[in-house]
Formats: sequence, structure tokens, C-alpha cells
Amino acid sequence: MTFQIACPDCGRREVQEFSFGGESTGRPPADAPLPELARYLFFRRNVAGPNVEWWYHRDGCRRWFLAVRDTRTNDVRQTYWPSDRPERSV
Ligand SMILES: [Zn+2]
Repeated sequence: MTFQIACPDCGRREVQEFSFGGESTGRPPADAPLPELARYLFFRRNVAGPNVEWWYHRDGCRRWFLAVRDTRTNDVRQTYWPSDRPERSV
């Protein structure tokens, strides 16, 4: 299955130009309890629906950005730089 992603820098490109970086998660503080650190490292939400994910434009601008992708349909609804991340988003 193929789909397209709109890189915030380069525009719409085939997904084969990108590398998937996993779902965006909130990083716990350095002094967080061990179970919280383990959850951060080893567990994912595995959302069926819109999910905020990291993507890397490997064959383009070589920059990391965030994308809101529906995991059921691969419909990429929004892409943005990490500095433009909406408040309370992970
Ligand atoms: Zn790019």
C-alpha cells in the first residue's frame, strides 16, 4: 500500500521517501519512577485512528517532523515541525 505525505519543507511526496519514527510520546522526567520509564521505553498506544507520529524525510530535506496519520486508512491529515506542535499534544 502506498500513500503520500506532505513534508512541511518539500511538499507532497510518496511515502517511500520517508522513514517512520514511531508514535509521538511524552518524555517522562529524569527522576520518574522505574515503571513510568519502562512504559515510555517499551509500550505504545497502538491507536486505531488519528495518531501523532514522527517521520523523517530521508530522500528529501533530511529533517524530522510530526504527522497526524489515521492508522486505519493511512490518510495523513496534518504535518508540522516539532516547534509548531500544538499545546497538550504528545
Ligand atoms: Zn522534506
